[in-house]
Amino acid sequence: MQFTASGPEGHRIVTVTKFDDKFVTVDGNHPLAGKTLHFDVKIVDIRDASADELSHGHVHGVGGHHH
Ligand SMILES: [Zn+2]
Repeated sequence: MQFTASGPEGHRIVTVTKFDDKFVTVDGNHPLAGKTLHFDVKIVDIRDASADELSHGHVHGVGGHHH
C-alpha cells in the first residue's frame, strides 16, 4: 500500500512495508530509489558555449542564467 505524505520538502510517496497491530513500517524512499534507470536521449542541437558559460564553467539554459 502506498500513500502520499506532506512535509517541508513537499509531497512524497510512502510505501507501507510492514505492519502489525501496534506498528507500521513505512519506506519514504522514492519508488525508483536503488533502481538502475536507463534514459533514451536524442541530441537535437549543438552550439558553442557562450562567453558567460565559458567564464562560469557551466551551461546556461534556454532562459539565460539566474545568478
Ligand atoms: Zn553561470
